[in-house]
Amino acid sequence: MPLRPLPRHSGWLMPAIAVLALILGLGAFELSQHRGIDALIERGRQRLDLYEASLEREIDKYAFFPATLGLEHDVVDLILNANAARVAAVNRYLEQLNQRAGSLSIYVLDARGHVIATSNWNRPDSFLGETLTYRSYFGDAIAGRNGRFFGIGTTKGEPGYYLSSPILIDGKPQGVAVVKVSLEQLEQSWTTVEAPVFVADENGVVILASVSSWKFTAVRPLSEAVRRDLAHSLHYNARPLPPLGLSTEQSLDGRHAELVALVRPHTEAAPVFPVSGRFVAQTEPLIGNGWTLTVLSPYGDVAATAWTHAALAAVGGAFLAILGVAWTQRRQRILERLKAREALQRAHDELELKVEERTRTLKAAQDELIHAGKLAVIGQMSAGLAHELNQPLAALQTLSDNTVIFLERGQMADATSNLALIGELVTHMGALTNQLKSFARKSSGELRPVPVARAIDNALLILDRRLSRGGVKPGVAVEPADVAVLADANRLEQILVNLIANALDALDGFVGPRLVVSAERLGDRIHIAVIDNGPGLSDDARARLFEPFFTTKEKGGGLGLGLAISAGIARDFGGSLTAADGQLGGTTFILDLAAAELQEA
Ligand code: ADP
Repeated sequence: MPLRPLPRHSGWLMPAIAVLALILGLGAFELSQHRGIDALIERGRQRLDLYEASLEREIDKYAFFPATLGLEHDVVDLILNANAARVAAVNRYLEQLNQRAGSLSIYVLDARGHVIATSNWNRPDSFLGETLTYRSYFGDAIAGRNGRFFGIGTTKGEPGYYLSSPILIDGKPQGVAVVKVSLEQLEQSWTTVEAPVFVADENGVVILASVSSWKFTAVRPLSEAVRRDLAHSLHYNARPLPPLGLSTEQSLDGRHAELVALVRPHTEAAPVFPVSGRFVAQTEPLIGNGWTLTVLSPYGDVAATAWTHAALAAVGGAFLAILGVAWTQRRQRILERLKAREALQRAHDELELKVEERTRTLKAAQDELIHAGKLAVIGQMSAGLAHELNQPLAALQTLSDNTVIFLERGQMADATSNLALIGELVTHMGALTNQLKSFARKSSGELRPVPVARAIDNALLILDRRLSRGGVKPGVAVEPADVAVLADANRLEQILVNLIANALDALDGFVGPRLVVSAERLGDRIHIAVIDNGPGLSDDARARLFEPFFTTKEKGGGLGLGLAISAGIARDFGGSLTAADGQLGGTTFILDLAAAELQEA
């Protein structure tokens, strides 16, 4: 299985994580802002209810004043017949009442709107005798209703809240009683406000505010017609009524609130809460007078918190994403590594099986080849052997014929010496055939200590005829002389015969041919060298020497199996066969084998 390289995400991964972080950040911002605004609105609602209740409580304190005045006999008598004594009595009464109640003024109007008695009768700013028909609280009360009016006094220019009631005589409104309460009294209920709050009247003019500079500003633009009316009724006593500077940024649908911005320089010492910037505004109408109560909650903290949450979500999200990717990649890497390991194990197992199988096949083939190689050598040798045997056979013929004659003549001494010669020849021939027999035998494969000197002698004996024919006198040097190797005697001789035969082939036709077979001990190894002074090895031959069927010899000259078989046998012995440059200028083959101790027979 091919190993896949790890997928490289880096191209799209970073932008993807950035987008994810952005989305998470935006989501967290939205959520946090929504939650924050919800909390502000919830708190705003509570404040609205609280301020509204306390404001109403403050106004209610004075609500029954004008109505109770209408029940006073002195007041009723004054309406019916206003003589100087009655006026003076009621004036004093109203003055005392005003002092005790802490209101700005208390006064009584007749049906035509003239002030006929007032608490401030003896003060320079007294409006005794003035006509106040233009004030709406008079109109309301004379029509039989309770009047409520916020306005600025015409004489002193003092803002105040006017409460009026009709004075009923025989069930009909014959006059009007009025109480004017100061703003400070109403604002007392707001001493503990935690954020801006204001009340706007029916014209949208701020009349009560926790920030005093907001008073007498317009929440919404006043039309020219309205401004004219207000000027005519002296409603705000000709105050300029600049805009408050409140603008709606966003309506918080379904939550009865809006996000507003307030841009207004304030000149007084800053209160504990912000008085400009962005706010969540909640407005509630006050019952009965067209006024509205508005609370503002600073939005800044919500935004700051939302930004913090957004940053946390983005960073946290990105961190988790990177962690996740790293984890997935690691998992994938481990999985692939495991897969690769499995594949490798499988390949390894298959290879091992194949190697085993091939080794078995090779071993069988090798055994066959060794045997075939032997037969080939025997084939080559048989011609020489026939010649070798023919000579002694012919000699035997002659010797035996002569011995018969010597015996007939009674020449016993000659006959005896002939028979001894015959014995020698037979021994020689027996040795030759024995060699051949043992050479052709398949080896048992068991390794024993083999004396190296004897193996060399035997090999040379087998090739004796070829040596003498080639005029080669082999040198043998075995050091120490009784050195032995762990081998099989027959197969060791087979290697030596192969190497010496190759050397003889190489020396064929050479003037001054030399051949040395040596053995020396190197630690627990024995090196047996077959050295010639022939032509040496070509590069091609050197590279392919041990290939089966590689030969440079003419057809019929060699099978190209000798070295392949020899090297195979050497390996079987736990050794090796290598070629080196000749120490005599030709070729040297070195057979490296394990040293063995000769057992005492
Ligand atoms: P064969 O003798 O049948 O050719 P071998 O395997 O014994 O097969 O030898 C392979 C070849 O190695 C020979 O044909 C020869 O070219 C080369 N060779 C072997 N021994 C020698 C040597 N002593 N000198 C030069 N060449 C050699």
